[in-house]
Amino acid sequence: MKGSDIDDQKTAEFDPGFFDSARNRADLLRVLRAALTDGTLRAGDRLPNERQIANASGLSRSTVREVLRDLDREGRVLRHVGRGTFVADMGLVSADRSAMLDVPLSPGELMEFRSVVEPSLVNLVVLNASEEQLARLVEIVEGSKHAATPQAAEAADRAFHECLFAATGNRFFMDLGRRISAVRAERAWMKLKEKSFSPEKWAVYWNEHRSISRALNDRDADLARSLLKSHLSGVRTAATLLAVGAGT
Ligand SMILES: [Zn+2]
Repeated sequence: MKGSDIDDQKTAEFDPGFFDSARNRADLLRVLRAALTDGTLRAGDRLPNERQIANASGLSRSTVREVLRDLDREGRVLRHVGRGTFVADMGLVSADRSAMLDVPLSPGELMEFRSVVEPSLVNLVVLNASEEQLARLVEIVEGSKHAATPQAAEAADRAFHECLFAATGNRFFMDLGRRISAVRAERAWMKLKEKSFSPEKWAVYWNEHRSISRALNDRDADLARSLLKSHLSGVRTAATLLAVGAGT
C-alpha cells in the first residue's frame, strides 16, 4: 500500500559521459535541451535530482537548480516539490513556443489575458479551496501590508494571484499560475512596476486583495468575482497608461 505511481516511476538514466561536455551553466542547458528534443528524455520521464546531475557534471547544485528552473520556465519540465523534475508533455505546448519566448509578452497582453482568466477561477476556488489554502491567502495579504518597495509589492502581488490559481485545486490552473508568475518576474514587467509603484497605490491594491480574500473565505463567489474584476481592471488601466507613457 505504500508509494504512488509517481514514486514508483524510474528516474531516467544517462549514458556514462553524457554530461562530460557540460562545463558551465549554458552547456548544461544545451545538453539537456538536446536530450529533450532528440527523444533521449521523453514526456513523463523523471530527471535525476539536482545532486545526481551535479555529481555527474561536476557543476554546483545551484547551477543545476538554475538550469532546471530555466527549463521549467520554458515549459519543458515540471518540478514537483518532494517528487522531482519530470519531462513535460510538449504536446500541450505550442510548437512556436520557443520562438514566442524570444519576444517577451507585453504587460498589456498579460493583463488582457489575466482579466479574462482570473475572474473565471473564482467558482472553482469557492468550490474546491481547502481551509488551509484560504488561510494562506489571508496570510499573504496580512504579511504584505507594509510592502515598501516595488519588488516587495510585486512579489506579494504575484504570491496572492498565484495562490488563487493554486486554490482552484486544478493542476492545469496551478501550472498556469506558475507560468504567469514567471512572466511577471521578467524585466519588462518589473520595470513597469518600478516606475508605477507608490505606497498609496499599494495601499489601494492591498485593500482590494484583503476584500477579495475575505469574500473567498466567506465562499461568496459573486462578490469575490466582482471585486477581482475591478481589481484587475484597475491594474490593467494603470499598466496601459504607463506603457503608453513609456513609449513616448
Ligand atoms: Zn493584485
